[in-house]
Amino acid sequence: MDYNFEQIEKKWQKKWETGKVFEVKENPKKKKFYVLDMFPYPSGEGLHMGHAFVFSLGDIFARFKRLQGFNVLYPIGYDSLGLPAENAAIKKGIHPEKYTESSIANFMKQQKAMGWSYDWSRMFKTSDPGFYKWDQWIFLQMLKKGLAYRKKSAVNYCSKCQTVLANEQVHNGKCWRHEDTSVEIKQLEQWYFKITNYAEELIQGLDKLDWPERAKIMQRNWIGKSHGTEILFEVNGEKWPIFTTRPDTVFGVTFMVISAQHSRIMELVTTKQKKEVESFLKKLKSVSEKELADLEKEGVFTGSYAVNPINNEKVPIYAGNFVLADYGSGMVMAVPGHDKRDFDFAKKYKLKIKQVIKGGDIHKCAYAGEGVLANSGNFNGLDSEEAKEHISIFLKEKKLGKKVVHYKLRDWLISRQRYWGTPIPVVYCDKCGIVSIPEKDLPVKLPKEVKFGKGNPLLTNEKWINVKCPKCGGKARRETDTMDTFVNSSWYFLRYCDPKNNERVFDSSKADYWTPIDQYIGGPEHITMHLIYIRFYTKFLRDLGLLKINEPALRYFTQGVVKGSDRNRMSKSKGNVVEPFDTINKYGADSLRLYLISASSPDSDFDWDEKGIQGSFRFLNKVYEYFSDFKPGKTDLRVESKINKTVKETTSLIEVFKHNLAVIKIRGFFEYIQDKKTDKKTAESFLKLLHVYCPFITEELWEKIGNKGFISLEKWPVVDERKINPDFEKEDEAREKIIGDILNILRIIEGRGETKNKVYVYVIPNEVETYNEAEISKRIGKDVRIFSVADKTKYDPTNKSKNTKPGKPGIYLE
Ligand SMILES: [Zn+2]
Ligand SMILES: [Zn+2]
Repeated sequence: MDYNFEQIEKKWQKKWETGKVFEVKENPKKKKFYVLDMFPYPSGEGLHMGHAFVFSLGDIFARFKRLQGFNVLYPIGYDSLGLPAENAAIKKGIHPEKYTESSIANFMKQQKAMGWSYDWSRMFKTSDPGFYKWDQWIFLQMLKKGLAYRKKSAVNYCSKCQTVLANEQVHNGKCWRHEDTSVEIKQLEQWYFKITNYAEELIQGLDKLDWPERAKIMQRNWIGKSHGTEILFEVNGEKWPIFTTRPDTVFGVTFMVISAQHSRIMELVTTKQKKEVESFLKKLKSVSEKELADLEKEGVFTGSYAVNPINNEKVPIYAGNFVLADYGSGMVMAVPGHDKRDFDFAKKYKLKIKQVIKGGDIHKCAYAGEGVLANSGNFNGLDSEEAKEHISIFLKEKKLGKKVVHYKLRDWLISRQRYWGTPIPVVYCDKCGIVSIPEKDLPVKLPKEVKFGKGNPLLTNEKWINVKCPKCGGKARRETDTMDTFVNSSWYFLRYCDPKNNERVFDSSKADYWTPIDQYIGGPEHITMHLIYIRFYTKFLRDLGLLKINEPALRYFTQGVVKGSDRNRMSKSKGNVVEPFDTINKYGADSLRLYLISASSPDSDFDWDEKGIQGSFRFLNKVYEYFSDFKPGKTDLRVESKINKTVKETTSLIEVFKHNLAVIKIRGFFEYIQDKKTDKKTAESFLKLLHVYCPFITEELWEKIGNKGFISLEKWPVVDERKINPDFEKEDEAREKIIGDILNILRIIEGRGETKNKVYVYVIPNEVETYNEAEISKRIGKDVRIFSVADKTKYDPTNKSKNTKPGKPGIYLE
């Protein structure tokens, strides 16, 4: 009988669906396990190989935990709002909603074909007003708590996206979506979420998470905590808090630098300097923090001065291209004697350089180290560490400064000037200012009638924009900015716990049962975007009293990249794309799944190889054949030992995502039993192990050997440690070793162009039993004879048997 994968996969897809096999409910008697893949953005192109790979990882884990007896929540939804849908729709001339709907329908078909065991009853899409209503509700709660606010500031703007971006969405000065587009800086008034309120907790919480160390380091650096002192410098009668980690150098300040992108820069520019400053500002480009280091430092005098509170010295304020507008107050104190960057700047613009820490020759270069203070009034003679402390205390007593903790993390800019996002639920009233839409009137739905083209499409529907003020009933205008779509993914995992609730964002008792996510899986590109936001939202919703958890996801696994056979990332432009569905049509989803996870460790990249998937396909054919005429027999002690060892090892390998190694164990076991009898239980254990990787064929064979019900809902095999016999294991190892050795020798010989057809192996007498001639011959593909060295009649023309030692057989080939 042939392995008809097409028929088998269709059959079980349908049975799972009609049987609602993977739907779950809260059950206090059963331990829950929440497995989550980062939900996909449904593009018209359908699933790509990267999807096929990463979602298979989630499904394997969900199936594994389900078999282990957990009540597994494994849901799916669609991150369907967002700019790509809007752009694709514009290109194709259809409404984004239509585009999104058809993309989702296509995705669902493909996801089912992959055998992913989702609880489809919980499916939602973020473009559904029933979902984004709750985005708006959360926004209003943030507004009430002062965590949502508007401010005018220098913001990142992508001319291709035609919208502003969050800091997290600017990568090396470029738009995260457009690697070729430098981000521009604009002064705009925008909506922000005060994520910085949680900066400390976001850092502290990392210690408790079972995440890849690299991910934790990246978040720690992104949040960027540092200890320092804020010193109040007086500028035009106003006190500016200036952050520094080196208050011990404050006597060495000879000028100040304000960010050229600072929203208040023009207030500091004197009439005399105006022209010069303006021409300087015109040349500026947006740069990333990384690029700042290599940037040619440039600046221009603003005409204003700041007063250093420690010695009342008046120092000039420069506008500089190397200070970030949102670093502290956007102005820094410059200490050219003790900072290389300030030194270069001072040399270039002929500014004063002062030595206040002993060490080095500051006329040649800055001395950035610590040391004993000089030229520092009452603080002379202290070393840097003491001086930092004393100067901070002195400033605090005089109310001229204080010690502070500083974070690099900035508030999250959430407004976007695009259509396909969640409308921000506020109006602007001439009389009342910003007014929230009452909660009972949510959702504020996106109007369908808009014109796409230049600028924000929402601005083209005057009827939608002009509303009555909910407070005074007078004329008001709707906010036309929509929310960053990362808002949607910041709490979607909670909505899965209670996806149909129309009264509340979710039922807390349901969320308490299912959360936190026990295993989260998704790409490394989300570490300093989505994974920061989702942690922030979780903490905010907890503070609202809706959640008991502090962290959304306890374990996080980040997968590698599937590359083309040319080792480049699969892309249409490179012509190296392999479509999952072409592969499924050729070999079936089980073969594709098995190949994707066995080719390499799931956290490293791998290159697509057609031969690899053919190997997986051949293996499944053999398995199918074995079980097609399966007649249970008696399992010998060796097989019993082997299956228990295989279950034991496979279980711990799956737990840590070492699927490639687990598959080697499972295949090894199958090769071992291929020409042996096994009892039904052993055969079933094997099918269960294989099931998590190849769900369709194992359901079919489970049924074929006489079982009712679904293998998907069976119990994971239990290891009987007593049956694992170390002697058998040693023998197996010895056999594998000799096979390896013979194959190696053959490879070398054949490399020289010679051929050998007979293999003679000499072993010490008590090891003869270890080696099975027939089995080794079969594996080698040549005639292999095993002799005891004590055998007088052995064939040994070159006396190879004399080198035989225990565990080290002699080998002769002819
Ligand atoms: Zn862009
Ligand atoms: Zn009003």
